[in-house]
Amino acid sequence: MPSIFTKIINGEIPCYKVAEDDEFFAFLDINPNAAGHTLCVPKKEVNKILDLDEASYMGLMAFSRKVGKAIEATIPCERVGMTVIGLEVPHVHVHLIPLHSMKNATF
Ligand code: 5GP
Repeated sequence: MPSIFTKIINGEIPCYKVAEDDEFFAFLDINPNAAGHTLCVPKKEVNKILDLDEASYMGLMAFSRKVGKAIEATIPCERVGMTVIGLEVPHVHVHLIPLHSMKNATF
């Protein structure tokens, strides 16, 4: 059965698309940790990041870096964090999350 992300890539489930090329797709997370929280996924469905072949792994990182830089230029934040979790959806994805420092917060 196709993963939920394959259905999103194929347009069977709606999403807010951020970017796309021949191999990769980026869209907003439905339950964001911060405004602009984006997921970058390979169009080819692979469950675990360590199961990607090296070219796809490098390609996903390069695509995520490009999308992350675009987010950083668009959404006010201190930096964009990149992380791979993958416990919920068994289709490799990189989380790009705009981060905001609390260092000047007053309580
Ligand atoms: P992980 O597998 O890395 O733990 O998390 C999967 C992420 O996918 C979560 O942040 C979750 O909010 C997001 N997600 C799950 N289902 C959907 C969906 O149908 N649409 C979108 N846009 N994001 C989803």
